[in-house]
Amino acid sequence: MSGKIQVTVWNEFRHEKKNDAVKAIYPNGMHEVIRGALAAHKDLAVRTATLDEPEHGLTEDVLNQTDVLTWWGHVAHGEVKDEVVARVQKRVLEGMGLIVLHSGHFSKIFKRMMGTNCSLKWREAGEKERLWNIEPGHPITEGLGEYFELPNTEMYGERFDIPTPDKLIFVSWFEGGEVFRSGCCWERGHGRIFYFRPGHETYPIFHDANVQKVLANAVRWAKPRVRIADQCPNTKPLEKLAPVKEKFGKVGVLQNG
Ligand code: ZN
Repeated sequence: MSGKIQVTVWNEFRHEKKNDAVKAIYPNGMHEVIRGALAAHKDLAVRTATLDEPEHGLTEDVLNQTDVLTWWGHVAHGEVKDEVVARVQKRVLEGMGLIVLHSGHFSKIFKRMMGTNCSLKWREAGEKERLWNIEPGHPITEGLGEYFELPNTEMYGERFDIPTPDKLIFVSWFEGGEVFRSGCCWERGHGRIFYFRPGHETYPIFHDANVQKVLANAVRWAKPRVRIADQCPNTKPLEKLAPVKEKFGKVGVLQNG
């Protein structure tokens, strides 16, 4: 793995076409804002893909050239083809990084990688959110302070039905009193997965400098270290083994170990 990290920013891209409030915040789609934020970093090469493109923009070729995939979806999770989900899962298990954003908690790919319902509490009331950085030494929190705040957010509250994260990076507090595991890391196969909570479509979350910093850090953390296709080989021993008849008096009976 040399050169720039190849990032594909995937967006469902439906709210921005239908809802004027969302269009005002993301006139070219939120994927364009995320792409721009990541592309400002010289070590990242960024492309976008959206639901309504052929194969949702996630062809074998695109995924083969992708080191890290970011995922935002909300109203059309059910329209994502199962064969594309399987293709993304295979690439993650081979080593591709996956960053799932906000309402992507209910996406087919996230639920498949987690194996749980991924349900949570929610409320849309423009509340303040304070994200506590509980892993200040982790690559994903590099350059962040002890906490950062978003003035208006949709609330997500516990319990979040996920497997216990390998590493919990952010815990959110909301004005209404709930808390939430907002930054979660897992490994699946050879791939790294990061779930990051902020990102509701009617608030300018992806324009926020701290959110953008987390995304760039997360891409670097999630980049592949290896790419290994699935295998289940019958394998020869490395050392010479005693003949089977010396170990077994009769078939299936081990003599003295
Ligand atoms: Zn939302």
